Amino acid sequence: MSSEYLLFIDGAWCEAAKKKTLGIIDPAAAEVFAEAAYGDREDARRAIAAAERAFPAWSRLLVYERAAKLRRVADLIRERVDAIARLLTREAGKPLAEARGEVKGAADVFEWSAEEAKRHYGEWMPTHLAEKRLLTFRSPVGVVGAIAPWNFPVILISRKLGPALAVGCTAVAKPASQTPLATVELFRCFEDAGIPAGVANLVMGPPGEVADEFLQNPVVRKVSFTGSVEVGKELMAKAAPQLKKLSLELGGHCPLIVCPDIGIEEAAERAVSAKFRNMGQVCISPSRCYVPEAKAEAFIEAAARCASALRIGPGLEPGTQVGPLFDATRLKATEELVADIEKKDGAIVCGGRRPAGEKYRKGYYYEPTVATGITREMLIMQKEPFAPILPIIPYRDLDEAVREANNTPYGLASYILTHDLATAFRLGEALQAGIISVNDPSPAAAQMPFGGMKESGLGREGGHSGIEAYTEVKYLSIWL
Ligand code: NAP
Repeated sequence: MSSEYLLFIDGAWCEAAKKKTLGIIDPAAAEVFAEAAYGDREDARRAIAAAERAFPAWSRLLVYERAAKLRRVADLIRERVDAIARLLTREAGKPLAEARGEVKGAADVFEWSAEEAKRHYGEWMPTHLAEKRLLTFRSPVGVVGAIAPWNFPVILISRKLGPALAVGCTAVAKPASQTPLATVELFRCFEDAGIPAGVANLVMGPPGEVADEFLQNPVVRKVSFTGSVEVGKELMAKAAPQLKKLSLELGGHCPLIVCPDIGIEEAAERAVSAKFRNMGQVCISPSRCYVPEAKAEAFIEAAARCASALRIGPGLEPGTQVGPLFDATRLKATEELVADIEKKDGAIVCGGRRPAGEKYRKGYYYEPTVATGITREMLIMQKEPFAPILPIIPYRDLDEAVREANNTPYGLASYILTHDLATAFRLGEALQAGIISVNDPSPAAAQMPFGGMKESGLGREGGHSGIEAYTEVKYLSIWL
């Protein structure tokens, strides 16, 4: 079967070498609505070879010229935001307003990377010998393999390609198999912005073929991965034989601490708005909500009220606040987490089931859920839930809350709800996470470093560190 969603290799749209395609499922209807080309190792090799050929000219281009092209990419994304966002909603299920926010965020990444690459300075260091002059400068790492997951397909691939291309790298992108469509539209922006052939290539295909080729092909000098902790660890082992550079943006189990000073209604609204974005399928989604013992009952009631009021529906339907889950696997995993909470004597305060009614019969819908009576033995406390469930846990004092918040192998984001500046600083310093959010339900920004500590990953995307990740420091020692 042919498809309008093709691979993009060496500046040309093409079918997969073996002509394979994959059906893309609309989570709101649980049925295939589009076909996309689905490549394999041979396509990945061809794309890597194109990126290798394009590298010398692209990396030598004046940074001002690269920046102008990437700013054009940003402009085109903004012009096409509605069309790209609609496709993103169809393939990923998220409400249109969230999809638009994601696509606009991708434009910001290209614009910011384009500008920042101009200011990516070297250093001229004081010398210890009169005859010597000592300098550093930065050069692009080379060909990059970029792998993104399904939950934010457009912004996550942009966080890799924006800085990589800005500093002079060339790249091959592999989107998640089930969410390639909006990424195809992003690549049309590259093409129309005049990014030269081979600089940015797109290969959809199974990870065992495409990602393994990234890791085994010596032309690829860096692999940048966003996805699960399990796969991140697997990639790290596979990168070892060539000591391939790796950036790993992995999962989390993010705590949210409601501090004693904040009002209950405000805290509940903020917690619910952070938790149910993209139905909890967000790497930095709050997965554990710690509340002062004395206020727990009132908070649980307020949070359940806010969560129950969220309007569930297809992402394209006006007024929808929460869409369906991404796929049958996420739906089953959510049902298992809820069953486990109930089996271990926890309580489901609201939600905990699929919504009733004809409108919800076909899609992967689930009601936003609030749970209490949570213990460490429950599955929801042991692995990243990636589900629309807000577990509420009372604490005695802030020391206990911080201890419990840090009691996890992950360290991606931590949320603090407070209006007390001293509490915000003290907790921000004590919490073990790469991202500390104070009252902010959505802390990602193009100019800021995003990423985790402990098992949540290696490196940062965005900000200065996100640009550095695609460069090597070179030291120049000159004897006069
Ligand atoms: P995943 O299974 O690890 O997949 C992510 C990407 O890796 C997809 O493109 C997938 O391809 C590919 N992949 C799967 N197995 C692979 C393997 N063995 N080797 C190489 N590549 C492989 O993750 P997911 O479940 O789709 O995504 C959700 C996870 O991503 C969550 O853990 C979430 O926290 C994390 N995440 C982290 C961040 C961050 O910035 N820290 C942001 C968003 C999401 P296919 O789709 O073709 O299988």
